[in-house]
Amino acid sequence: MRLTRFLMPTLKEDPSEAETISHKLLLRGGFIRKVASGIYNFLPLGFRSLKKIENIVREEMNRAGALEILMPLVQPAELWKETGRWDAYGKELLRFKDRKEHDFCLGPTHEEVVTDLVRKEVKSYRQLPLILYQIAQKFRDEIRPRFGLLRGREFIMKDAYSFDADVKGLEKSYELMYETYERIFKKCGLRFRAVEAHTGAIGGDVSHEFMVLAETGEDTISICEHCGYASNIELTPAISSESYPVEAPKPLEKVYTPGVRSAEDVAKFLGFPLAKITKTLIYIVEEREPIAVVLRGDHELNEVKLDKALEGRPFRMAKEEEILALIGAHPGFLGPRGLKIKIFVDRALVNFPNFVIGANEDEYHYLNANLGDTFQATLIADLRKAKEGDLCPNCGKPLSFTKGIEVGHIFKLGTKYSSAMKATFLDRDGQEKPFVMGCYGIGVSRLLSATVEQNHDKDGIIFPWALAPFQVALLPLNREFIDKAEVLYYKLNSRWEVLLDDRDERPGVKFKDMDLVGIPLQVILGKAFQEKGEFEIKVRRTGERILVTEERLEEVISKKAEELQREL
Ligand code: ATP
Ligand code: MG
Repeated sequence: MRLTRFLMPTLKEDPSEAETISHKLLLRGGFIRKVASGIYNFLPLGFRSLKKIENIVREEMNRAGALEILMPLVQPAELWKETGRWDAYGKELLRFKDRKEHDFCLGPTHEEVVTDLVRKEVKSYRQLPLILYQIAQKFRDEIRPRFGLLRGREFIMKDAYSFDADVKGLEKSYELMYETYERIFKKCGLRFRAVEAHTGAIGGDVSHEFMVLAETGEDTISICEHCGYASNIELTPAISSESYPVEAPKPLEKVYTPGVRSAEDVAKFLGFPLAKITKTLIYIVEEREPIAVVLRGDHELNEVKLDKALEGRPFRMAKEEEILALIGAHPGFLGPRGLKIKIFVDRALVNFPNFVIGANEDEYHYLNANLGDTFQATLIADLRKAKEGDLCPNCGKPLSFTKGIEVGHIFKLGTKYSSAMKATFLDRDGQEKPFVMGCYGIGVSRLLSATVEQNHDKDGIIFPWALAPFQVALLPLNREFIDKAEVLYYKLNSRWEVLLDDRDERPGVKFKDMDLVGIPLQVILGKAFQEKGEFEIKVRRTGERILVTEERLEEVISKKAEELQREL
């Protein structure tokens, strides 16, 4: 491709709309442009990388025996009513009516549509297992679309659905997809990790997320270097390595604590360690039932664990007015003693002696509270987030924590959708049974951003070889070198994807642009070419520069290309 015939509108400045690195660099490099909040155009450069991701995904899904289909973005409400998700899905589901006043939605995911397809077309166990997939647009009316392609409203997903005759079949399909995902992300040239995950709105009981490791990731994952255990922190059981000093319960004592509200302030005021101060949080369940959640001041509530404890009933934090009306004290002075509501207590408070609680009276706390003595728990459970120093649930060695971006998610669904939609087949024994299902997603467009989050430096993007929009950039730095560059372009372009910068621009502009868009190898016709007829090869990732003669040019490019493909 000749740059003068291409559309690559690079920007010198960081666009103000962008906060994250990938968002900035993809805008600056001319990969994407915003159309509306969370909705983007892919320009030629972005489109090329996107297609590379899609092709890797397609190749590996096909290799696994999955069949590619295409399902509609617009879906009728009837199907969603069959599973109850028309009402349950919430506002991410964009609902609308057609001219005949029939209800429709834009598909945020395709379990309903694919289950409907399979219940109509697949009748016998002989047709199983079956894995169908598509690479297509999804629409989710995200509450806060942000970070460019990382959290869009319209985005591209690969979604796959497996249908098996029994649970054993599902195990196999799941395993196959797990391995396929590992192949996909490896082939993309990304550093990633599969972790145990929470199943969320899709449902089912087992799931794994695939995380691209990047410091800027929104997800925290816990990893055990010892046994290989890894999970999303939303799911990681909090197992403390502390042992508490044995201490006899002391008598409860009310203390005046004027103006100190946060656990940190209370700890400082009383001269206690933060761990000794507890927080009492009030939540409203299903808009009607207030509950209290008690945990240590140095611990943080994990809302996914609370969700589990509440068996999926929706909840939200209580507002200050609600707390005042209910308890008669301000947040900061709340405690579990004497409350007439359900009290959920984090298990770290079991056998934890003589801690501080709010007195449910402004400006007062109690010292020496003890669980089971000062107050009773309705439920004791693991409710806090795991943290540095906590132990592996598998082998008991300390966990370490790192950041990741979720690019893939696989679920064992079981018969949740097939039962609800009466999607059945005739089994070997002549019995009618619901399909046992799994579903498997990859955020194809998010993967492009995640790639940039993981692979960049101060000058721009550093594409892994497999995902680069072009592999080789050809840079004649002087107008007189263009003819030579043209000849070379023909030669190299038959082996690699080459972008020839034939613009009449200063060398500095050309270098900046090529560094910005992250093409792995640059072939420069500059000073060495003028003086000795030699080409300079620059490796974008390492900054390495090699001078080569024309005879050796292709050989050296091949060698470097090979190195870059191997490198992880
Ligand atoms: P998240 O927790 O990030 O909202 P999710 O659990 O809703 O993700 P899934 O329903 O499992 O995501 O979707 C499958 C994949 O689609 C995700 O792993 C992610 O890579 C991608 N994805 C989900 N939501 C978005 C979005 N708003 N923009 C871009 N990609 C997305
Ligand atoms: Mg989501």
